This record gives sequence, structure tokens and C-alpha cells, in this order.
Amino acid sequence: MLGQRAPIRALGAAAERGEVAAAYIFSGTRGIGKTTIARIFAKALNCERGPAADCCGECTPCREIAEGRSLDVVELDAATHTGIDDIRELREAAQYPPGRDRYRVFILDEAHQLSQAAWNGLLKILEEPPSWCVFLFCTTEPHRIPATIESRALHFAFRSPPPSALAAHLRDVAAKEGIEIDEGAIELLVRAANGSVRDGLSALDQVRAVAEGPIDADLVREALGLVPGEAVDRWLRAALGGDAAAALRVIADLDEEGQDLRAFTAEALAAVHRVGLVRALGKDAVPDGPDLVDLAGKLAPEQVAFAGKVLDETEGRLRAGGPQRILLDLATLRIARVADLAPLADLAGRALAGGGGAPGPSPPAPPVGSREDHRSRPGGGSRPGPSAAPPPAPAPSPVAQPTGDGLLARLLEEVAGVRAPVAAYLRHATGARVRDDGILEIVLPARAVVWESRLREPAAAAALRTAAERALGRSPAGVEIRRSDEADAREASSPRDPARRKSRRQVLEQVRQDPVVREIFDRFDAVLLDGHELSPGDDAR
Ligand SMILES: [Zn+2]
Repeated sequence: MLGQRAPIRALGAAAERGEVAAAYIFSGTRGIGKTTIARIFAKALNCERGPAADCCGECTPCREIAEGRSLDVVELDAATHTGIDDIRELREAAQYPPGRDRYRVFILDEAHQLSQAAWNGLLKILEEPPSWCVFLFCTTEPHRIPATIESRALHFAFRSPPPSALAAHLRDVAAKEGIEIDEGAIELLVRAANGSVRDGLSALDQVRAVAEGPIDADLVREALGLVPGEAVDRWLRAALGGDAAAALRVIADLDEEGQDLRAFTAEALAAVHRVGLVRALGKDAVPDGPDLVDLAGKLAPEQVAFAGKVLDETEGRLRAGGPQRILLDLATLRIARVADLAPLADLAGRALAGGGGAPGPSPPAPPVGSREDHRSRPGGGSRPGPSAAPPPAPAPSPVAQPTGDGLLARLLEEVAGVRAPVAAYLRHATGARVRDDGILEIVLPARAVVWESRLREPAAAAALRTAAERALGRSPAGVEIRRSDEADAREASSPRDPARRKSRRQVLEQVRQDPVVREIFDRFDAVLLDGHELSPGDDAR
């Protein structure tokens, strides 16, 4: 009994001490061996050399119980013996002492299926149980056992063996029977077993029946009617790689072949899970890790998480009877689309460095969804920093760039490394210069009251000083933030920035239209279930 040694020993030891209850409930998922445990316990109770924690397995009672022909150990399948007549017989049998052995043991399989009338009959016995009677209720659904019974019984909940134990067991069985089987096949069998040793073994039997040589994953899939692994792999690579067309083709082919798309979705989810494990823990995390390591390396963690979430939702909907092909196609499109977007790190880098969203004559926004466009462009004079974003475009007016290009860009780059949110405020600046008195002056548009106050906060000011030191190679005499009237006048007349003069709501709308913000919105709209509205002060957080 895989992993059940401890409870079995505890039961046997109690029997040895003569501490035997009138009723026991053995619960646990199907196929973990509850009935077998019940038989072992019956042997421990009735063994000629017992009662003992270790029954001998050789005496007459032990052998008869093992073979299911002991007169004193009765096994009933509650699914077929739910009637009151069966229970009446059982009650009568319970009145007589055992014929030969110590105890009369009644093993009731699938006990939760007994009718209320049957339970009432059993309750009458359990209210005044004859000393020789032991009832063993085996069930997958202990909550369906009436409380009146449960309160008179000892409840043992047996846990499913962990997948690794199940895999080891299947490996053992295969080795003993001279079956050659690889790890991929074992993993599929373990998954098919779903925590049940019995199901795992019967799956192994099923595969062996068609196997003519060594057993591999493909053979297991074929024998158990699973979706071809190669299709799962092709879909996985296409969808996570952003190639929606190729991924949809895989589904179309499977549908054409009459494959079960819900089973496919479950397999795809399991595959994404494995990719996630390889991404986080390395190629040894799962048996097929070495095959997945190249794919995992290309993906951002949140991308894997998103694919998992979409597939999980989809599987739930399919289970509820949703239209398989449609839901799976839509899930594929969502997953492929996210893969197509720039990795979040790039995005955040650009937002913080002011690329894309900075006011001013920036180049046309790159089309959302094309990776290449987000990469750094040559030139720009900034040294390679943590973000590969292009430096912000030169500010529009002469006032805005008192010390030429570069300084504001350098400041932005440095401050992003010191205190990222400050960069989000600073990117609204139109210029920066070191005045003759050695003070670094940062110029904001006249209406940027919010940003001005943010930049004046002590933490932001300190970050700006540090950034300035790094950008200038020396410490500035001070940092001053000021708003520019002239810049304001320009902006007021500039068609480029009409929102500058408009209401807070319109400003907010402008922020929403910012390509970077829009892309972030797009992603989180898809990734998060809900979010809160951005206000200018919350920008880029
Ligand atoms: Zn024995």
C-alpha cells in the first residue's frame, strides 16, 4: 500500500492492544487501496497468531481473507447492497458470534451509497454493537456518511500518494514484470492515474496490452487515447511564441481528427505548467525539461502565468460544456497576442525613461505589438543602461533645453536606476541645465503642478541629487524645480498638446492615449481581473 504504511501499522497496533472500535471509516480518493487496507486490518484482527500489527499471511484466516472466502469477513459493495433487506440480513448475521475467528468483520465498499433506511438499520446495530462486530466503511465521500454513524466510528482519511511515489511504484511494477518504459511514459501514466494507484496500474496494463516493445510516451498516448504530444508541443511553441496562425492550425487539425479538445486543453495547461517550472527552477525541474528549456528561456514569467490562467479558465468553461473549438481558438488568440507584445521589462523601462510617452515631438509611436520597434535605436548618445530604451526626444523649445540635449536624458536614465517613480515624474520635464551658480535647474511645463510637487518631495529631491551627481560627475550646488511660463505659452498654442490646457479628465485621457500606457493597459486588462483607474499622480506605477 503506497504511502499508507503508517496508518496501517497504527490500526494493527491498536488491534494488538485489543483496542478495537465497532466501526471504522476509511476515506480517500478512489483507487488508493481502501478496500485492501480494510482486508489487511481484517487479517490483523483475525490472524491465528494475532491480533497483531503484522498478520502472518499464512494461517487459514489470513489466506481465506486474502482470497475473499472467509465466512467471518463479509465484503459488501454498498452500491449494490443498499436495500433494507440486505441490511436486515446483515443485522441478523451480526447477532451471531463469529464461526471460527475472533471477529465478524463487515467491509462495506462505497459506503456513501447506502440508503437512509440502510443507515438506520446499521445505526441500530452500532447503538449496541455485539463485541465481535467490526464494521469497516470504505468511501470516497466521507461527508455523505450520516453524522450519527460517524460519531460512533473511527475515521481514517488516507491521502493519495504523491506523484513521485506513484511514479516510483509504476517504475517498480514495470521493472518486476520486465517492461521497458521511459520517463515520459511514466509521467503520462501518473497524470492519467490522477492520484489513484489502481488507475495508474490499470493504465499501465492497458498500454502493455498494445505494446510490442519498449513503452514510450507516444505509445501511452496512443493506448490511452491521449492527444498526441507532438501536437501539444507544436501548439505550445506557436502560441507562446506569438504565432497565432500556426497555433490555430494545430487546433484545426486536432478538431478534424476528432480529438477531444478538452483533453487537449488540460494537456496544454500541464505543458505550460512544466514550462513555468523550467523557467523558474531550471531544466531538471521536470522530466522533459531539457526539451523545454529553449522555449522557457524566451518567455517572461508573467507570460507563462498569463497562458496558464487563460488555459485554466478555458478548461473550466469546457468542463461546463462550452463550445470546445471556439473557446480554445479564443484562448489561443489571447495567449499568442500577449506573446507578441513587448516583454514587460522593456515596457517599464521605456515608460520610466520617458520613451514613447514623453511630451514633445517624439517619433510616431511604434505599432503596438511589434517587438523589434521597441529595441534601442542607434545613436542618442546615452550609455547603455539597464533599459534599452531610446533617449527621450529633444524638448521642443529653446527654453526647454538650456544645456543642450543629453542632460535631461542622462538624468532620466540615472534617476530611473535610483528611484524609478521619480523618473515617471521627471519625464514631464521640458529641460534641465546647470546654472552659473552650480544649481541644477529642472524646467517643467507651467501646468505641471502635480509633477512639480512630486519632484519637490524630499525622497524625490534626494533621488534627483544622486542622479545629478552621476549624470554630471559632480555634485550640483542644489536642485531647483521650476515651471516655465514660456513653455506654457507655447504649449497653450501647440496643437500637439491640446490636453495640457484642458481639464484633469482630459489630461487623464491623454495619459490613456500614451502608447506605452496603452500597451500596459492592454496587457493588464488582459492579465488582471480588475485594476484601478490611473490618475496623473499614479502614472507609470
Ligand atoms: Zn495469519
